Amino acid sequence: MTHEKLFERARSVIPGGVNSPVRAFNAVGGTPIFVTSGKGATITLADGRTLIDCCCSWGAMILGHAAEQVTEAVSRAAGGGTTFGIGTPGEVALAERLVAASPLLDRVRLVNSGTEAVMTAVRLARGVTGRELILKCEGCYHGHSDALLVSAGSGVLTAGDGAEVASAGIPQIIARDTLVIPYNDLAAAQRAFEVHGARIAAVIIEPVAGNMGCVPPKEGYLKGLETLAHAAGALLICDEVINAFRFRYGLYSDAAGLQPDLVTMGKVIGGGFPLAAVGGKADIMDALAPCGKVYQAGTLSGNPVAVAAAIAVLDELKAHPPYAQMEANVVRIADALNEAAEAAGVPIRVQRHATIFTPFATTALPVCNLTDAQKADTALYARFFHGMLARGVYFEPSAFEVNFVSAAHRTEEVETIIAAAKATFAAL
Ligand SMILES: *Cc1c(COP(=O)(O)O)cnc(C)c1O
Repeated sequence: MTHEKLFERARSVIPGGVNSPVRAFNAVGGTPIFVTSGKGATITLADGRTLIDCCCSWGAMILGHAAEQVTEAVSRAAGGGTTFGIGTPGEVALAERLVAASPLLDRVRLVNSGTEAVMTAVRLARGVTGRELILKCEGCYHGHSDALLVSAGSGVLTAGDGAEVASAGIPQIIARDTLVIPYNDLAAAQRAFEVHGARIAAVIIEPVAGNMGCVPPKEGYLKGLETLAHAAGALLICDEVINAFRFRYGLYSDAAGLQPDLVTMGKVIGGGFPLAAVGGKADIMDALAPCGKVYQAGTLSGNPVAVAAAIAVLDELKAHPPYAQMEANVVRIADALNEAAEAAGVPIRVQRHATIFTPFATTALPVCNLTDAQKADTALYARFFHGMLARGVYFEPSAFEVNFVSAAHRTEEVETIIAAAKATFAAL
């Protein structure tokens, strides 16, 4: 079936034809694609074409699509009933694995999406501090809850709305309690704490930013933010919805020597299902209902099928850590693309961190914050994206996202990506 036909049907029954805005290709133009199946590093489309996938469901599919351990675990779990609304041994086993993976986590609460994990973290921070303000960075995306859709990244960024509130329908009174500072700018954070410190409940940050493209933290930035927060009696929330288990088995915060009070996880830890988590030390986490006064709940939370997938993924990541190979592949892609783009005179340069990368349509690296990221030539990125798509490689359909590799991306796929990029640069 053609994508045009599917998109036409979709648009008549789903707003914009998609269930998440970035899928509509508004940032790159053209007709969005529809996927019928995936296996390993590839996805097969409704029109029969097969592409190498560098979206990997926004990083969730770290083992690649339809990994056998996962599909078997999922079938087994589904055969035993798909939801009970009652505790299951599986959710205990998953929570034990997460807690064991980081000294920062005494307790985790399982939820259904990264958005929910962050909502809960913010409510907890406000509940335990008795304060209301939240400090966040421009270009960081923390899900689509009201309080955090203020100067957010990801799909919101490409919507091109320069207004402070990133969506209609958000009451000013809620947006007012969210303060926004540039990422990687400790002096700006210091000023915010000087002015508002006693009223700030938490500063929330993507440690390695992934929703304005791949933007790593400057040396000392995150530790500095943590020191400022703690000196002011505010909490540090590390939103590791992308970062957790993406760069190593465990949290980025641990590797970076950070001491966040709360950590949110999603994407990888969901095993390809709607499952995410918020975690932290017992004194803070136990403020959650039913032991504490901060309310949070979910009909499908700790869903047995999702939990089975998550456990299968974590156990595979632990038994056979793919991180070194994934990182080597990203280094190879980044170096080869940069060299080829320069040789072809195309102003696209890849910025990377560990197992994620972004081809920014600019030669002005490093990109350190949203202002830098927005210097990218989005029209050039769109042409690059379509050039790659025509040559069998699916990169992110927006100039302000990160691309992902999975454990299933082998040398063969990496070389195909590089060949496609060389041909695309030549055509540009
Ligand atoms: C994806 C993402 C979220 C939102 O997660 P959903 O599962 O899409 O709700 C929150 N924070 C960060 C850093 C993310 O990348």
